[in-house]
Amino acid sequence: MLKKKKIKFSEIIINWYNKNKRKLPWRKTKDPYKIWVSEIILQQTRISQGTSYYLNFIEKYPKIENLATEKEDNILKIWQGLGYYSRAINMHKTAKFIFNEKKNIFPKKYNDLIKLKGVGPYTAAAVSSICFKEKRAVLDGNVLRILSRYFKINDPINSNFGIKKFTKLSNKLVSESEPGNYNQGMMDLGSTICKPKNPLCDLCPLNISCESKKEEKFNLPNKLKLKKNKTRYLVYLIMKHYGKYYVKKRLSNDIWGNLYDFPHIEFKNSKENTDKNILIKLKNMLKNKDIVINQKVSINYKLTHQNLNISFVTLTGNIVFKSKKFEIVSKNKLMSLPVPKPIENFISNI
Ligand code: SF4
Repeated sequence: MLKKKKIKFSEIIINWYNKNKRKLPWRKTKDPYKIWVSEIILQQTRISQGTSYYLNFIEKYPKIENLATEKEDNILKIWQGLGYYSRAINMHKTAKFIFNEKKNIFPKKYNDLIKLKGVGPYTAAAVSSICFKEKRAVLDGNVLRILSRYFKINDPINSNFGIKKFTKLSNKLVSESEPGNYNQGMMDLGSTICKPKNPLCDLCPLNISCESKKEEKFNLPNKLKLKKNKTRYLVYLIMKHYGKYYVKKRLSNDIWGNLYDFPHIEFKNSKENTDKNILIKLKNMLKNKDIVINQKVSINYKLTHQNLNISFVTLTGNIVFKSKKFEIVSKNKLMSLPVPKPIENFISNI
Protein backbone atom coordinates (compact mmCIF):
# COMPACT_ATOMS: atom_id res chain seq x y z
CA MET A 1 0.00 0.00 0.00
CA LEU A 2 2.85 2.38 0.88
CA LYS A 3 4.44 1.77 -2.53
CA LYS A 4 1.26 2.65 -4.36
CA LYS A 5 0.87 5.84 -2.34
CA LYS A 6 4.51 6.88 -2.87
CA ILE A 7 4.04 7.16 -6.63
CA LYS A 8 1.16 9.56 -6.34
CA PHE A 9 2.02 11.38 -3.18
CA SER A 10 4.44 14.00 -4.54
CA GLU A 11 2.26 14.69 -7.61
CA ILE A 12 -0.76 15.32 -5.41
CA ILE A 13 1.23 17.72 -3.25
CA ILE A 14 2.71 19.62 -6.21
CA ASN A 15 -0.67 19.94 -7.98
CA TRP A 16 -2.25 21.23 -4.81
CA TYR A 17 0.64 23.65 -4.25
CA ASN A 18 0.40 25.06 -7.77
CA LYS A 19 -3.24 25.98 -7.15
CA ASN A 20 -3.07 26.99 -3.49
CA LYS A 21 0.38 28.36 -2.72
CA ARG A 22 0.53 31.24 -0.31
CA LYS A 23 1.78 34.53 -1.70
CA LEU A 24 4.88 35.12 0.38
CA PRO A 25 7.60 37.68 -0.43
CA TRP A 26 10.44 35.12 -0.56
CA ARG A 27 8.52 33.08 -3.13
CA LYS A 28 9.22 35.74 -5.76
CA THR A 29 12.90 34.79 -5.86
CA LYS A 30 15.27 31.86 -6.19
CA ASP A 31 18.21 33.85 -4.81
CA PRO A 32 19.76 31.46 -2.27
CA TYR A 33 20.77 34.35 0.00
CA LYS A 34 17.14 35.53 0.29
CA ILE A 35 15.74 31.99 0.67
CA TRP A 36 18.34 31.34 3.38
CA VAL A 37 17.34 34.56 5.21
CA SER A 38 13.65 33.60 5.03
CA GLU A 39 14.27 30.07 6.27
CA ILE A 40 16.41 31.21 9.21
CA ILE A 41 13.81 33.81 10.21
CA LEU A 42 11.00 31.26 9.97
CA GLN A 43 12.72 28.77 12.28
CA GLN A 44 10.77 29.09 15.56
CA THR A 45 8.78 32.05 14.16
CA ARG A 46 5.29 32.21 12.67
CA ILE A 47 4.95 33.56 9.11
CA SER A 48 2.67 36.37 10.32
CA GLN A 49 5.44 37.66 12.60
CA GLY A 50 8.42 36.73 10.41
CA THR A 51 7.27 38.43 7.17
CA SER A 52 7.86 42.02 8.32
CA TYR A 53 11.26 41.03 9.75
CA TYR A 54 12.18 39.41 6.42
CA LEU A 55 11.17 42.53 4.46
CA ASN A 56 13.11 44.85 6.80
CA PHE A 57 16.13 42.59 6.74
CA ILE A 58 16.26 42.34 2.95
CA GLU A 59 15.67 46.07 2.55
CA LYS A 60 18.59 46.78 4.88
CA TYR A 61 20.83 43.96 3.59
CA PRO A 62 19.77 43.19 -0.01
CA LYS A 63 22.96 41.24 -0.71
CA ILE A 64 25.19 39.01 1.33
CA GLU A 65 28.02 41.54 1.22
CA ASN A 66 25.79 44.12 2.96
CA LEU A 67 25.23 41.66 5.80
CA ALA A 68 28.86 40.53 5.92
CA THR A 69 30.16 44.07 6.36
CA GLU A 70 27.59 45.21 8.96
CA LYS A 71 28.24 45.59 12.72
CA GLU A 72 26.80 42.81 14.87
CA ASP A 73 24.97 45.25 17.17
CA ASN A 74 23.06 46.71 14.20
CA ILE A 75 22.02 43.24 12.97
CA LEU A 76 20.82 42.33 16.46
CA LYS A 77 18.83 45.57 16.60
CA ILE A 78 16.96 44.61 13.39
CA TRP A 79 16.42 41.15 14.89
CA GLN A 80 15.14 42.55 18.20
CA GLY A 81 11.88 40.91 19.30
CA LEU A 82 12.29 37.86 17.10
CA GLY A 83 14.08 35.80 19.77
CA TYR A 84 16.74 33.11 19.34
CA TYR A 85 19.39 35.73 18.74
CA SER A 86 22.06 33.12 18.00
CA ARG A 87 20.32 32.82 14.60
CA ALA A 88 21.29 36.40 13.73
CA ILE A 89 24.81 35.99 15.13
CA ASN A 90 25.34 32.80 13.09
CA MET A 91 23.93 34.43 9.95
CA HIS A 92 26.44 37.22 10.34
CA LYS A 93 29.32 34.72 10.74
CA THR A 94 28.13 32.75 7.71
CA ALA A 95 27.77 35.90 5.58
CA LYS A 96 31.33 36.95 6.51
CA PHE A 97 32.59 33.45 5.71
CA ILE A 98 30.94 33.38 2.27
CA PHE A 99 32.04 36.95 1.51
CA ASN A 100 35.64 36.49 2.64
CA GLU A 101 36.37 32.81 2.01
CA LYS A 102 34.03 31.75 -0.81
CA LYS A 103 34.40 34.69 -3.20
CA ASN A 104 30.90 35.82 -2.24
CA ILE A 105 29.33 32.76 -3.93
CA PHE A 106 26.55 31.08 -1.97
CA PRO A 107 26.98 27.28 -1.77
CA LYS A 108 24.57 25.29 -3.95
CA LYS A 109 24.73 21.73 -2.67
CA TYR A 110 23.09 20.33 0.46
CA ASN A 111 26.40 18.83 1.60
CA ASP A 112 28.11 22.24 1.41
CA LEU A 113 25.19 24.19 2.85
CA ILE A 114 24.96 21.95 5.92
CA LYS A 115 28.53 22.90 6.85
CA LEU A 116 27.60 26.59 7.26
CA LYS A 117 27.20 27.95 10.78
CA GLY A 118 23.56 27.88 11.91
CA VAL A 119 22.38 25.81 8.92
CA GLY A 120 20.73 22.51 9.84
CA PRO A 121 19.19 19.76 7.68
CA TYR A 122 15.92 21.68 7.22
CA THR A 123 17.50 24.89 5.93
CA ALA A 124 20.05 23.04 3.78
CA ALA A 125 17.23 20.98 2.21
CA ALA A 126 15.04 24.06 1.67
CA VAL A 127 17.78 26.15 -0.02
CA SER A 128 19.20 23.30 -2.15
CA SER A 129 15.76 22.11 -3.31
CA ILE A 130 14.07 25.49 -3.88
CA CYS A 131 17.03 27.28 -5.51
CA PHE A 132 18.95 24.44 -7.16
CA LYS A 133 16.39 21.60 -7.54
CA GLU A 134 18.38 19.14 -5.46
CA LYS A 135 16.25 16.18 -4.37
CA ARG A 136 16.20 16.79 -0.61
CA ALA A 137 13.14 16.72 1.60
CA VAL A 138 12.49 19.24 4.36
CA LEU A 139 11.35 17.80 7.65
CA ASP A 140 9.75 20.03 10.25
CA GLY A 141 6.69 19.94 12.50
CA ASN A 142 4.32 20.53 9.57
CA VAL A 143 5.78 17.77 7.42
CA LEU A 144 5.98 15.34 10.35
CA ARG A 145 2.31 15.94 11.14
CA ILE A 146 1.20 15.18 7.59
CA LEU A 147 3.35 12.06 7.27
CA SER A 148 2.47 10.61 10.67
CA ARG A 149 -1.26 11.14 10.07
CA TYR A 150 -1.34 10.10 6.44
CA PHE A 151 0.64 6.88 6.93
CA LYS A 152 -0.50 6.41 10.57
CA ILE A 153 3.01 6.21 11.99
CA ASN A 154 3.01 6.04 15.77
CA ASP A 155 6.75 6.46 16.43
CA PRO A 156 7.42 9.63 18.44
CA ILE A 157 8.63 12.38 16.13
CA ASN A 158 11.17 13.58 18.71
CA SER A 159 12.79 10.16 19.26
CA ASN A 160 16.00 9.20 17.44
CA PHE A 161 14.25 6.20 15.95
CA GLY A 162 11.29 8.32 14.82
CA ILE A 163 13.48 11.00 13.26
CA LYS A 164 15.43 8.37 11.27
CA LYS A 165 12.22 6.73 10.06
CA PHE A 166 10.57 10.00 8.98
CA THR A 167 13.77 11.25 7.32
CA LYS A 168 14.02 8.07 5.26
CA LEU A 169 10.36 8.20 4.30
CA SER A 170 10.35 11.89 3.38
CA ASN A 171 13.46 11.52 1.20
CA LYS A 172 11.72 8.70 -0.67
CA LEU A 173 8.58 10.75 -1.20
CA VAL A 174 10.18 13.99 -2.40
CA SER A 175 9.71 14.74 -6.09
CA GLU A 176 12.65 14.09 -8.43
CA SER A 177 11.75 16.86 -10.88
CA GLU A 178 10.24 19.52 -8.60
CA PRO A 179 11.67 19.05 -5.11
CA GLY A 180 11.34 22.75 -4.25
CA ASN A 181 7.63 22.90 -5.09
CA TYR A 182 7.03 19.60 -3.29
CA ASN A 183 8.75 20.90 -0.14
CA GLN A 184 6.90 24.20 -0.21
CA GLY A 185 3.66 22.31 -0.81
CA MET A 186 4.26 20.21 2.30
CA MET A 187 5.06 23.37 4.32
CA ASP A 188 1.83 25.06 3.16
CA LEU A 189 -0.38 21.99 3.51
CA GLY A 190 0.84 21.39 7.05
CA SER A 191 0.31 24.94 8.22
CA THR A 192 -2.98 25.72 6.46
CA ILE A 193 -4.85 22.37 6.15
CA CYS A 194 -3.34 19.56 8.24
CA LYS A 195 -3.30 21.79 11.31
CA PRO A 196 -2.40 20.52 14.79
CA LYS A 197 -6.00 20.91 15.98
CA ASN A 198 -9.08 20.46 13.81
CA PRO A 199 -7.40 19.58 10.48
CA LEU A 200 -9.40 20.71 7.45
CA CYS A 201 -9.57 17.24 5.88
CA ASP A 202 -12.42 18.18 3.53
CA LEU A 203 -10.05 20.58 1.77
CA CYS A 204 -7.05 18.24 1.84
CA PRO A 205 -5.82 16.70 -1.43
CA LEU A 206 -4.72 13.57 0.50
CA ASN A 207 -8.08 12.88 2.13
CA ILE A 208 -9.08 9.88 -0.02
CA SER A 209 -6.13 7.75 1.07
CA CYS A 210 -5.23 9.24 4.47
CA GLU A 211 -5.20 6.63 7.25
CA SER A 212 -6.11 9.11 9.99
CA LYS A 213 -9.02 10.47 7.96
CA LYS A 214 -10.32 6.94 7.39
CA GLU A 215 -10.48 6.39 11.14
CA GLU A 216 -11.46 9.99 11.93
CA LYS A 217 -8.71 9.97 14.55
CA PHE A 218 -6.29 12.87 14.51
CA ASN A 219 -4.21 12.31 17.64
CA LEU A 220 -0.91 11.93 15.72
CA PRO A 221 1.95 12.81 15.73
CA ASN A 222 3.16 11.21 18.95
CA LYS A 223 5.86 12.91 21.00
CA LEU A 224 8.01 11.73 23.89
CA LYS A 225 7.33 13.75 27.03
CA LEU A 226 10.18 16.14 27.70
CA LYS A 227 11.32 17.41 31.08
CA LYS A 228 9.44 20.38 32.52
CA ASN A 229 11.01 23.76 31.79
CA LYS A 230 12.96 25.19 34.70
CA THR A 231 12.24 28.68 36.03
CA ARG A 232 15.00 31.23 36.49
CA TYR A 233 14.60 34.23 38.79
CA LEU A 234 16.32 37.28 37.33
CA VAL A 235 16.45 40.60 39.12
CA TYR A 236 17.35 43.53 36.90
CA LEU A 237 18.90 46.45 38.70
CA ILE A 238 17.85 49.77 37.25
CA MET A 239 20.46 52.21 38.43
CA LYS A 240 21.03 55.71 37.20
CA HIS A 241 24.34 57.53 37.25
CA TYR A 242 23.79 61.26 36.67
CA GLY A 243 20.67 60.51 34.62
CA LYS A 244 22.30 57.70 32.63
CA TYR A 245 21.84 53.94 32.93
CA TYR A 246 24.24 51.15 33.72
CA VAL A 247 24.09 48.43 31.04
CA LYS A 248 26.20 45.46 29.96
CA LYS A 249 26.57 43.18 26.97
CA ARG A 250 25.40 39.66 27.76
CA LEU A 251 27.68 36.67 27.41
CA SER A 252 27.22 34.66 24.22
CA ASN A 253 26.72 31.32 26.00
CA ASP A 254 23.46 32.19 27.78
CA ILE A 255 19.98 33.26 26.68
CA TRP A 256 19.93 36.52 24.71
CA GLY A 257 23.64 36.12 23.95
CA ASN A 258 25.41 39.37 22.86
CA LEU A 259 22.35 41.53 23.52
CA TYR A 260 22.46 44.32 26.10
CA ASP A 261 20.69 44.37 29.44
CA PHE A 262 20.90 45.93 32.88
CA PRO A 263 23.15 44.59 35.64
CA HIS A 264 21.36 41.66 37.22
CA ILE A 265 21.29 39.19 40.06
CA GLU A 266 19.96 35.66 39.69
CA PHE A 267 18.24 33.58 42.39
CA LYS A 268 17.53 29.84 42.41
CA ASN A 269 13.95 30.12 43.66
CA SER A 270 11.21 32.61 44.47
CA LYS A 271 11.84 32.41 48.25
CA GLU A 272 15.36 33.80 47.84
CA ASN A 273 14.08 36.69 45.74
CA THR A 274 13.52 39.16 48.62
CA ASP A 275 14.46 42.85 48.99
CA LYS A 276 16.79 41.90 51.83
CA ASN A 277 18.71 39.38 49.68
CA ILE A 278 18.85 41.81 46.76
CA LEU A 279 20.47 44.45 49.00
CA ILE A 280 22.95 41.93 50.45
CA LYS A 281 24.05 40.87 46.95
CA LEU A 282 24.16 44.45 45.76
CA LYS A 283 26.42 45.55 48.58
CA ASN A 284 29.00 43.06 47.33
CA MET A 285 28.78 44.55 43.84
CA LEU A 286 28.96 48.24 44.77
CA LYS A 287 31.58 50.47 46.33
CA ASN A 288 29.04 52.46 48.30
CA LYS A 289 26.47 51.03 50.76
CA ASP A 290 23.70 53.68 50.90
CA ILE A 291 21.33 52.05 48.42
CA VAL A 292 17.53 52.10 48.65
CA ILE A 293 15.02 50.01 46.68
CA ASN A 294 12.46 52.41 45.25
CA GLN A 295 10.28 50.14 43.16
CA LYS A 296 10.04 46.45 42.25
CA VAL A 297 7.95 45.23 39.32
CA SER A 298 7.84 41.52 38.42
CA ILE A 299 6.75 39.79 35.22
CA ASN A 300 6.78 36.22 33.92
CA TYR A 301 8.28 35.60 30.51
CA LYS A 302 8.35 32.30 28.64
CA LEU A 303 11.14 31.12 26.40
CA THR A 304 10.92 27.78 24.62
CA HIS A 305 13.10 25.91 27.12
CA GLN A 306 13.01 28.18 30.14
CA ASN A 307 10.50 30.17 32.16
CA LEU A 308 11.74 33.49 33.46
CA ASN A 309 10.52 35.41 36.46
CA ILE A 310 11.95 38.88 35.94
CA SER A 311 11.94 41.62 38.57
CA PHE A 312 12.88 45.15 37.60
CA VAL A 313 14.20 46.84 40.70
CA THR A 314 14.72 50.59 40.60
CA LEU A 315 17.40 51.80 43.01
CA THR A 316 18.50 55.18 44.24
CA GLY A 317 21.73 56.16 45.92
CA ASN A 318 25.21 57.15 44.92
CA ILE A 319 25.88 54.11 42.75
CA VAL A 320 29.44 53.11 41.88
CA PHE A 321 30.21 49.55 40.79
CA LYS A 322 33.36 47.75 41.90
CA SER A 323 33.54 46.05 38.49
CA LYS A 324 34.31 48.02 35.35
CA LYS A 325 32.34 45.69 33.05
CA PHE A 326 29.30 47.98 32.96
CA GLU A 327 28.78 50.80 30.49
CA ILE A 328 26.88 53.98 31.32
CA VAL A 329 24.54 55.10 28.54
CA SER A 330 21.83 57.70 27.98
CA LYS A 331 18.23 56.61 27.45
CA ASN A 332 18.52 57.42 23.73
CA LYS A 333 21.62 55.26 23.39
CA LEU A 334 19.91 52.51 25.39
CA MET A 335 16.95 52.59 22.98
CA SER A 336 19.32 52.16 20.03
CA LEU A 337 21.04 49.06 21.44
CA PRO A 338 19.79 45.51 20.74
CA VAL A 339 18.02 44.39 23.91
CA PRO A 340 15.80 41.41 24.88
CA LYS A 341 12.05 41.89 24.47
CA PRO A 342 11.21 42.25 28.21
CA ILE A 343 13.89 44.95 28.50
CA GLU A 344 12.53 46.71 25.41
CA ASN A 345 9.05 46.70 26.96
CA PHE A 346 10.41 48.00 30.24
CA ILE A 347 12.52 50.84 28.83
CA SER A 348 9.71 52.07 26.62
CA ASN A 349 7.88 52.92 29.88
CA ILE A 350 10.69 54.64 31.79
S1 SF4 B 1 -6.74 14.12 5.32
FE1 SF4 B 1 -6.74 15.29 7.17
S2 SF4 B 1 -5.37 14.24 8.56
FE2 SF4 B 1 -5.02 13.41 6.53
S3 SF4 B 1 -3.29 14.59 5.77
FE3 SF4 B 1 -5.16 15.61 5.07
S4 SF4 B 1 -5.65 17.17 6.64
FE4 SF4 B 1 -4.13 15.74 7.49
